[in-house]
Amino acid sequence: MRLSSRAAGLAGSATLALAARARALAAAGRDVVSMAVGEPDFDAPPLVRAAAHLAIESGEVRYTPAAGLPVLRAALAQMLTMQRGVPTTPAGVVVTHSGKHALSHALLALVEPGDEVLLLLPAWSSYDELVRFAGGVVRHVAPRHDAGPDFAALAAALTPRTRGIVLNTPSNPSGYVWNEVELRQLMQLARERDLWVVSDEIYARLVYGSARHVSPAALDDDARSRVVIVDGASKAFAMTGYRIGFLAGPAHVTKSVAEMQSQISGCPNYVSQQAYLAGLAHDPPEMESMRLAFDARRRHLHAGLEALGLDIIEPLGAFYAFPDVARYTDERGVVGFCEDMLETEALALVPGTAFGMEGHVRLSYALSMAKIDEALRRFGRALAARRGLRATAS
Ligand code: PLP
Repeated sequence: MRLSSRAAGLAGSATLALAARARALAAAGRDVVSMAVGEPDFDAPPLVRAAAHLAIESGEVRYTPAAGLPVLRAALAQMLTMQRGVPTTPAGVVVTHSGKHALSHALLALVEPGDEVLLLLPAWSSYDELVRFAGGVVRHVAPRHDAGPDFAALAAALTPRTRGIVLNTPSNPSGYVWNEVELRQLMQLARERDLWVVSDEIYARLVYGSARHVSPAALDDDARSRVVIVDGASKAFAMTGYRIGFLAGPAHVTKSVAEMQSQISGCPNYVSQQAYLAGLAHDPPEMESMRLAFDARRRHLHAGLEALGLDIIEPLGAFYAFPDVARYTDERGVVGFCEDMLETEALALVPGTAFGMEGHVRLSYALSMAKIDEALRRFGRALAARRGLRATAS
């Protein structure tokens, strides 16, 4: 049996593969500290869990409309309107099986074979694969030194075949949060070149310090007509295993995605829809406690990495740090660096190559302060050993 070229060309998630390798080492008895994780280490809030229980017991666990429960679409439209400043009606929202699912459906709805799509580096690994899976051609755009957008590079990457841009703010992996001026510049470019923008806002609630999340769809009507927002409950409500998300955008896009969903996978899980609805309706205080805990860890990890002498921008969103470790790598680059870290220090990191950037590694701080301290100790020890090696060699 031969696979389609579409299926054969798709690579599995590098980060999930690394997390699996770390788990296998731990199962074999190694004291692994995994900074490869991409999910909150908190439980979903009690009222979310209670809503899931209640939904199961209700006897109503059945198909819902393919685009999701009307009441949940309405709650998401209200959240976008009130909290994100993006005027949205329920018809402008489709509930999906996850943020990833929203993203893949958005790209399947927008990309024609051969269309060029710009990815702003460092870019979450799934974007590359999903754009290609949809038949598109990926064009990478290098960032400024501080991981923000380099508009000269962006302009240079445009060709007559460019159709869209995938934006992710706050960014996984860099933690960079786009400001309004940058977003206006991006949307002006989108207007001039008639481009769509898929805006991945899954970390919108996880911003720190002076950073504020701004959706490009909140800027003006023209911007709203070109932006498709993808988002979900995984990070904001610590609901990764519930697998629930949504997509919002112009009505012809949401209608098409709802039809696609009705054929490909059917409605999202009823229990998770009810749980998500409870989270949105009550906005439980645990969410802010989680954000504050992430903020404290972020500052701690950032200070620790700086103390190790690493070149790193302060991440202001999501829950990752993305330092430059190029001077500690050998000919195998950061992939070899991460393999060594895992084997010698039992410390799991994600190589920047998974995000299109050699020379960097991603560290997740979705783990306890004690584990972050232990990770910093191991990281520091490994860097010192490499410095020692260099000194002996020279
Ligand atoms: N977008 C980004 C940038 C992510 O990091 C993730 C998860 O790691 C997702 C989307 C998808 O999240 P989910 O499919 O759990 O909703």
